[in-house]
Amino acid sequence: MSEILVLVDHVDGAVRKPTLELLTLARRLGEPSAVVLGAGDAAADIAAKLGEYGAAKVYAADAAEFADYLVVPKVDGLEQIAKAASPAAVLITSSAEGKEIAARLALRIGSGIITDAVDVKPGDNGPVATQSVFAASFTVDSTVSHGTPVITVKANATSPQPAQAAGTVENVAITFCDAAKGTKVVSRTRRQSSGRPELTEAAIVVSGGRGVGSAESFSVIEELADALGAAVGASRAAVDANWYPHSNQVGQTGKTVSPHLYIAGGISGAIQHRAGMQTSKTIVAVNKDPEAPILELVDFGVIGDLFDVVPQLTAEIKTRKS
Ligand code: FAD
Repeated sequence: MSEILVLVDHVDGAVRKPTLELLTLARRLGEPSAVVLGAGDAAADIAAKLGEYGAAKVYAADAAEFADYLVVPKVDGLEQIAKAASPAAVLITSSAEGKEIAARLALRIGSGIITDAVDVKPGDNGPVATQSVFAASFTVDSTVSHGTPVITVKANATSPQPAQAAGTVENVAITFCDAAKGTKVVSRTRRQSSGRPELTEAAIVVSGGRGVGSAESFSVIEELADALGAAVGASRAAVDANWYPHSNQVGQTGKTVSPHLYIAGGISGAIQHRAGMQTSKTIVAVNKDPEAPILELVDFGVIGDLFDVVPQLTAEIKTRKS
């Protein structure tokens, strides 16, 4: 069976959910092998987890060069493992770092690259990757015609499905190029965590727009998000008004999300906002204007004042959970 390499995204010794999604997709294409770069003492735990999601083999490489947001060492590692393994495809998560690694890898191994896929299936000429383009107005199926396909896949493209496999660890020594040694992280400030899931990975996102009216009123959105275990998003109008940080902006000039459920409160649905959320599986909007454009694309629309509707929704969810 053809080998499919999956680059593992891990933080503080834990495998991130998008990697488990990649392993699930990789099983459709062939036999997944995971590539773990720089896991240190956590390598054995990480390998066990990867085996539970179908990784037959785990290539593990450890070196100080892999620490922090340093892309070139990771490209060195993945390139050397890919050249030795000759896989049928390489799958990487569509994070900013993942896409940078993918682009550099494709260049080094002389292959084609497809980014931001929302699905990957087997095809007659190699993996077929589906992308959502032009503000999600079209979906496009593509294959890589030259070299080993390098494909980045968006979070929430599928649900992770366990499948016990051996997860046999193969330790690999990596030789680093000069560029990999030329950059060092000199200091780091940890961003204060909200305790909510990462916006681009969250299964549920609750977003607020200009209709929320003020920074203080965003607590209505946050309370619903917390009842659902969701991330909080914001439209650009809300961000420009300084009601919510830019890191939470959804849309063309913000982040692209593709959760299972997207709830928009007081957002009109401008094309630039849609560009960042239109591939969400189920979309719900609360808007007091029955003509708001967002109501054209929702699965469920509630015409009403968000300050009436959202607190009732939050209370109902809390009641059902208790
Ligand atoms: P509005 O369009 O003002 O809509 C507010 C909505 O709230 C209305 O539909 C109103 O009926 C409803 N409302 C008001 N009060 C209530 C209430 N009490 N209860 C219920 N509903 C209520 N926008 C983004 O979001 N993300 C981007 O990344 C982005 N990038 C852009 C890039 C460019 C180059 C440009 C030109 C624009 C970009 N925009 C982006 C801006 C975009 O065009 C819109 O201006 C913006 O999305 C509007 O935000 P909004 O829907 O919150 O506000």
